[in-house]
Amino acid sequence: MSGIVIIGAGECGTRAAFALREAEYSGSITLVGAEPHLPYERPPLSKPTSGAVQMKLICAQEALAGAGIDYLKGVSASKLDTDARTVALGDGRVLGYEKLLLATGARPRRLASPGAERALDFRTHADAEAIFSNARTGRNVAVIGGGLIGMELASVLRGKGIAVSVIEAAPKILGRAIPSRFAERLHARHMAEGVDFHLDRGVAAITDDGVILTDGSTVQADLVVSAIGVMPEITLAQQAGLATGNGILTDVHLRTSAPDIFAAGDCAAVSQPGGGHIRFESWRNARAQAELAARNMVASVEVFAAIPWFWSDQYDLGLQVVGLPQPPHQSVVRSFGDGELEFYLDGGRLVAAAGLGIGNGLAKDIKLAELLIAARVHLDPASLADPNVNLKTLLKSARAA
Ligand code: FAD
Ligand code: NAP
Repeated sequence: MSGIVIIGAGECGTRAAFALREAEYSGSITLVGAEPHLPYERPPLSKPTSGAVQMKLICAQEALAGAGIDYLKGVSASKLDTDARTVALGDGRVLGYEKLLLATGARPRRLASPGAERALDFRTHADAEAIFSNARTGRNVAVIGGGLIGMELASVLRGKGIAVSVIEAAPKILGRAIPSRFAERLHARHMAEGVDFHLDRGVAAITDDGVILTDGSTVQADLVVSAIGVMPEITLAQQAGLATGNGILTDVHLRTSAPDIFAAGDCAAVSQPGGGHIRFESWRNARAQAELAARNMVASVEVFAAIPWFWSDQYDLGLQVVGLPQPPHQSVVRSFGDGELEFYLDGGRLVAAAGLGIGNGLAKDIKLAELLIAARVHLDPASLADPNVNLKTLLKSARAA
């Protein structure tokens, strides 16, 4: 038996490795990552600021070495044996473990249409390099999927003057994660920027000339990018007989069904107090679960209860969503200057908030909304709607009460 092994060196696995040391774990830590780089962040891939694809490292080699983390780069874990407590690697090595963290993330969902192999995925730094090196002014790009990746990519390409068509199976874009008020505003902005939309239509085939849609029409394209969502990477867990569903199933402490094996990040579906499991696909969730899994692997038995939060940048607009807005919630809108906040109340209690404005301008208000959500307070809708009422004042009164 030797120490803790982490499979997956993305945001979650890498953060967990450092968090183990912060939790004063002194045994060996081995971080196994399939990609041939130092651990890097994915969000900057679809938000290149200077035109070039960014490689924003999560940590330098020196930081890994300084923390005593043995990073096995460009190596896949191929088989997990929970009885022998070993994990076999693609290069023939077999690692023993006392405890194991599965942080295997997610992989792009694949189109099933003829010619699907012509479409590029967008998940890794290599994918970003392939897309941006082929997307040049004068070329047409078809993006399949009007989700977060599709619309962030469309905004970057339009910024470079490249013609973009977006093909989306649903009647609206950004339907999954973004409240409809802001999805509609972003849609309008993309239209104003000249994005050509093909909604409510599927892909029949991809050819050398572009995409043939299910209604028989054709979208001409030199380059086709598929951004139709992700699947949790659960192969290793499934083959080892761990409980899986839409992700590797964990309890509220991020423990899987196998002894001493935890799961966190995009791959983990976490048990909910009201029943069922939830899997999140966001940067902050990957970090928050990494930190909690690390503490629980060392000594704690904490429950995962972080409030979900994510952001998206499109053109000069910044969107942030905290909590989980649901259609039955009471909506309260606060408008000011060039931005808008929407609060979501459940039985009078603030449970979620979202905002869309220029750049990072709404970040402070969303942070205050997060603190109000955590305080589990009932709030007066009129005060929430009034831009002259400072959210900080509401928080102070809530805390005093
Ligand atoms: P991943 O980042 O998927 O990392 C998992 C790692 O495990 C991968 O490197 C994979 O190669 C490796 N792995 C898998 N199986 C094995 C194996 N058997 N052996 C060894 N290694 C293995 N979120 C936001 O909140 N805001 C954003 O603006 C945002 N932008 C994004 C932009 C892009 C282009 C993408 C792709 C994602 C974006 N996200 C964003 C989502 C966010 O990046 C993910 O939620 C986060 O990366 C999840 O981290 P993770 O470590 O759980 O998984
Ligand atoms: P996504 O947000 O799930 O969006 C995928 C979109 O593609 C959905 O609108 C989906 O519609 C549509 N779709 C599915 N099948 C289709 C088909 N056959 N033809 C046309 N459209 C189809 O996923 P993504 O944009 O690919 O992003 C991948 C991952 O990266 C996600 O985990 C996402 O959270 C993450 N990411 C996050 C951010 C951020 O937080 N800012 C930014 C980029 C990426 P239905 O919903 O109707 O299926």
